[in-house]
Amino acid sequence: MMLLVFAVTFLLSGASAQYDADVLILGAGSAGLSAASVLASQNVSFIIIEAADTIGGRIKSTMFGGKIVELGSIGIYGTESSINSTVNMYNITGKYVDYDSVIVKSYLNESLDEQADAVWNKLANAQKTVKKLFGEIKEGKIRDMSIKVALENGGWFPKTILEDVIEIYDYDFEFSKFPALISTRGFQSVSDIQDKPFLSTDQRGLQNYMERFASSFMNTSGPQMKLGETVVGINHTDTSVSVTTSSGKTFNGKYAIVTFSMGVLKSKNDMFNPSLPAWKLDTIYRTSIDSYAQIYVKFASTVTNFWGTYQYILHVHPRRGYYPIIINLEAEGFFPNGTNILLFVVMGEEARRVESMQDNQVKDEIKGVLKGMFGSSTPEPESIRLERWTSDPLTMGSFTSRQVGDEGNPRFLEALKSRVGRVYFAGEAYHDVMDGFVEGAEQSGRYTAMEVKECMMDKKCPQFNPTPAAPKPVPTTCEASLLSLSLATLLACLMAVYLK
Ligand SMILES: Cc1cc2nc3c(=O)[nH]c(=O)nc-3n(C[C@H](O)[C@H](O)[C@H](O)COP(=O)(O)OP(=O)(O)OC[C@H]3O[C@@H](n4cnc5c(N)ncnc54)[C@H](O)[C@@H]3O)c2cc1C
Repeated sequence: MMLLVFAVTFLLSGASAQYDADVLILGAGSAGLSAASVLASQNVSFIIIEAADTIGGRIKSTMFGGKIVELGSIGIYGTESSINSTVNMYNITGKYVDYDSVIVKSYLNESLDEQADAVWNKLANAQKTVKKLFGEIKEGKIRDMSIKVALENGGWFPKTILEDVIEIYDYDFEFSKFPALISTRGFQSVSDIQDKPFLSTDQRGLQNYMERFASSFMNTSGPQMKLGETVVGINHTDTSVSVTTSSGKTFNGKYAIVTFSMGVLKSKNDMFNPSLPAWKLDTIYRTSIDSYAQIYVKFASTVTNFWGTYQYILHVHPRRGYYPIIINLEAEGFFPNGTNILLFVVMGEEARRVESMQDNQVKDEIKGVLKGMFGSSTPEPESIRLERWTSDPLTMGSFTSRQVGDEGNPRFLEALKSRVGRVYFAGEAYHDVMDGFVEGAEQSGRYTAMEVKECMMDKKCPQFNPTPAAPKPVPTTCEASLLSLSLATLLACLMAVYLK
């Protein structure tokens, strides 16, 4: 008997010793940390493996021009209550943006505010049609369509460079792509639930808020957090996941949650062994991750404000998307006057182009833009700061959005979010509505951690089935009448057959 107890104890301790933790969380961005917080609350052991030396992922703060600025996410998006709760819980300083606080300047130093008002009214009219079409899409009456097509239905055909920049402000600015590539269903679903974002100017940085969040449930410098470890292999079986890193280390877990961006998954999907199945890869390749460049521009302390007091300045230029939006970080409620920092935002293909240039080339282009907008004597920027998210191997893009047709498609979403064996997936790209946003990443992390917990504890482990049972054939009228035992229908049916 003693021998049996000893053998069982040995086997049990041997079984748990082969795992470093129940769950390996790959990536310490918003999704990874949110997943960890849920596992901690459920007493499920985990290890976080992160390639960078800091946590936060695409939330990254740095010192520039004497201020802490955000290189990645800067706006807190979500519903009114979710924004308020984050801002209040972490006491974040900043201000809700006011999209109506905007002026429009041309590349020929003209103020176009009056003309812009007329264009905005025209666009607002077309947007009424877009909302109506969205309602019909949601009800399944019509198929999803691009925002461009929906706007055309409402009579919006931008022909002037002023119309172009106003369209960019309302659409490209949020989804980082041309309206022809934005799903009406996706865009309107977010607009429906979202309140005005809160723009952070917090001098601890948003990355610090991530650190405070992580410290609330774990020791961020303890053995559960492996920073500076780049994952190069994810080997998975029916009973375990073994992760190898470029430093030669191996970590074993019962499950893994992969939170890498879609850009990383697209370019390095060969790290999975066995490979991801075709149905999973299909969803990964179909989810686009776009480029979004934020360029901080600092002027010398001797320069006095020449850009005004509005929050946004639009740049009207013959080349669509050429430095179209400037955020005035000195507008009331943001940084104090004299900080002399503006934030230029460039999207999509133009962002890609800007990222591929040297800093001094970008600075020269911005110098030209400012002289065009404000006159030839406009002071030159002292320095600029630009993070290159698309060429960064740990992100390979800024944020995702789904294609027309995939958005709201239950089969697509089910496959996208599904586990593959013991490997689960979380991150901004997997949220049904808030994909692209920090809020979406956080919710996806929490939801996925609960899924893993349910699989571990309750043995409920649903997985996408690429070949569902064929739908049952619709019974003919005669069969249906027999099934429903309706005598009248049966007689009508037999009569119809007889008369044939
Ligand atoms: C310029 C820019 C502006 C943005 N603005 C906003 C905004 O205003 N509001 C908003 O809500 N969202 C914004 N976003 C999007 C937001 O930042 C992201 O949606 C969110 O941070 C994604 O979180 P995540 O956990 O899904 O992914 P990530 O933050 O990318 O986390 C994944 C982690 O995995 C790590 N990793 C990758 N590969 C490996 C590897 N091989 N081994 C180990 N670790 C690896 C990465 O280093 C990263 O830390 C912006 C993004 C960018 C780039």
